[in-house]
Amino acid sequence: MLNKLSGWSDTIVALATPPGIGAIGVIRLSGPGAIGVTNRLFPSKDLTAQPSHTLHVGLLKQEGEALDEVVVALYKGPRSFTGEDTTEISCHGSPYIQGRIIEACIAAGARLARPGEFTQRAFLNGKLDLAQAEAVADLIASNTAASAKTALHAIRGGFSAALRQLREGLLQFSALIELELDFSQEDVEFADRTRLRALLGEARTLTTQLLDSFRLGNVIRNGISVALIGRPNAGKSTLLNALLNEERAIVSAIAGTTRDTIEEVLNIDGILFRLIDTAGIRSHSSDAIENAGIEKSRQKLAAADLVLCLFDAVGTEPVELQELEEELQRGGKPWLLVANKVDTGALPALREKWAHRGNVVFISAKSGTGVDALKQEMVDRVLQGAAETESAIVTNARHYAALQEVQRSVEDVLNGLDSGLPGDLLALDIRRCLHYLGEITGEITNEDQLDYIFSKFCIGK
Ligand code: GDP
Repeated sequence: MLNKLSGWSDTIVALATPPGIGAIGVIRLSGPGAIGVTNRLFPSKDLTAQPSHTLHVGLLKQEGEALDEVVVALYKGPRSFTGEDTTEISCHGSPYIQGRIIEACIAAGARLARPGEFTQRAFLNGKLDLAQAEAVADLIASNTAASAKTALHAIRGGFSAALRQLREGLLQFSALIELELDFSQEDVEFADRTRLRALLGEARTLTTQLLDSFRLGNVIRNGISVALIGRPNAGKSTLLNALLNEERAIVSAIAGTTRDTIEEVLNIDGILFRLIDTAGIRSHSSDAIENAGIEKSRQKLAAADLVLCLFDAVGTEPVELQELEEELQRGGKPWLLVANKVDTGALPALREKWAHRGNVVFISAKSGTGVDALKQEMVDRVLQGAAETESAIVTNARHYAALQEVQRSVEDVLNGLDSGLPGDLLALDIRRCLHYLGEITGEITNEDQLDYIFSKFCIGK
């Protein structure tokens, strides 16, 4: 079945390290001819006679011309990433040399790999399941510690193991129920309905947990967008600069000069925050340009995952915030009140003044006081109520969609059991559930779907 896919028996080559100048570059070959092709370019030693997992230093030559002095690593299948014979040529990090070596490998019998083809082969050889293979792409694309950790967790098995176990349990039941159909005249029940119900209960818990984790997974993967709102002169630009520790937005004492929305990215404890500096939400402005800015602010507010509401702790009266707070309450997003300019007043008195508001963070954007506490509060808001970050987290939209289908079919089977649905219909619902479970781990898949998934990888992976 799967290993009849095209391009299966040939040897592929690609640069495994980023293109451009570096200290070293690694060119990887995989396939039945990987060692033979490399050997044709490596005159100093017979690589085909060497044991697996060894390193060899020597000159790489094409038709007598030296290309580079390299180190060749040998991995014999199935003990390699792809499960096939693999070599890795570490050469000097010049794009010219790398290009020459890849050309030489092609001339010696390899072909250029398609995007993701190394990982695709690893999947087809059973070295990784589909969820793990996709996590490889995530790991490469990850740019924070938290996203790398989630991707790594998925590569090492993540939730696949739990889903596979569930699938096996359900497979047994579907076989038993189908067996009952053969004996339909005799009115027997091979499949223990109580145990089936218990298994479905477990399935429901697991899928709900995984579906819930998607929100946090998404946050870790894509970052959380933060709308920074407040009246003109509240200190939004100053705070943005304090958070970013550099002067990016234009700070001005003239009310309403931050006209456009500027997006900046901040990495706090491995979570990406996309800070959107808005034009403020002053509702009655006569300035046409600023009105456009305000409209944009409202749009950004709608798209934000977290709202920071900044105000002048000294110059603002609690009653003035009422309208804004009501609007935020209606919006239903997590939000924080940030009392700024505490350097212009006495902190105890300010705490007293704002005490009834509960969760207020006191800062001075100008001096930096309280900015670290604010960052911590932002992280807490994101992780609030979230499952332990060590546990499995669904970050992939394809898995999420399939899990929703799993959940739906689990409900259908449960309802079917309750209403005494005949075995053949019950078996249909279980099959549907099995199908979607299998889609996640790749037990059920088709060539188009695979090509689509792996085409999103970069070449060399
Ligand atoms: P925005 O309109 O909300 O973006 O406000 P800005 O960041 O442009 O700040 C308006 C004015 O308040 C500027 O003159 C800032 O220097 C000043 N400002 C901002 N934060 C603080 C603060 O924490 N303490 C004091 N004393 N002044 C501040």
